[in-house]
Amino acid sequence: MKFWPRRSRLEPPAPRPDPTRIAILEHDLFGIQPQPGTAAALAIGLRRVGACSTHAPVEVTGLGDQTRNGLCTRCGIPVILNDEGDWAAV
Ligand SMILES: [Zn+2]
Repeated sequence: MKFWPRRSRLEPPAPRPDPTRIAILEHDLFGIQPQPGTAAALAIGLRRVGACSTHAPVEVTGLGDQTRNGLCTRCGIPVILNDEGDWAAV
């Protein structure tokens, strides 16, 4: 006979993945465009507006690439190395 009912211990809910972050990763990795009017479309659109004042490029040139190309580590836009030795946004 139990005088005090034992409470069931509930596990805290697992954190849910951020759908905006998933949509941005799908765009960056697979080229899937997010739905217009969503937060992901706004975040990707802000990249082109100039959210990054000075790009911080990292070279990601592949073996078969003709030009040296890279990605900005701050805003994520693709950049290429031009003839003057400067990284320029594509
Ligand atoms: Zn940038």
